[in-house]
Amino acid sequence: MSGFDYESLLDRARDRIPKDISERARWTMPEPEILLEGNQTILRNFSSIVDSMDRDANHVYQFLINELGTSGTQESTRILLKGRVPPKRIKEKIVAYVKTFILCGQCKAPDTRFIKEDRTYLLKCQACGATRPVRL
Ligand SMILES: [Zn+2]
Repeated sequence: MSGFDYESLLDRARDRIPKDISERARWTMPEPEILLEGNQTILRNFSSIVDSMDRDANHVYQFLINELGTSGTQESTRILLKGRVPPKRIKEKIVAYVKTFILCGQCKAPDTRFIKEDRTYLLKCQACGATRPVRL
């Protein structure tokens, strides 16, 4: 399998931030392990991916299910998706999640948190302090 989109995404992101920040925020995400089995698709290391993201597993799961237009089952460490979903599509959606809900809009650091202001959720960067609205 050829190069994986989010690795280049993260490499590019690291290029743009000062070295001390990028080293503090050094972030490696495991390569998704995807199996097609019968009429279902298994993302075997879902929990490791979510752990590396420091995000709520249900939020990531719902995003993937909605974006992929399928249904599924969440187990302790893996998720099962109905139907045969091409691994490339799953990876694209994981990248989309990272871009939407993790990377800072300003400095692209992955070191961000959700905060609530009035009724709006914001993604706040721990590296540069920038915020942007997110729809949770
Ligand atoms: Zn930032």
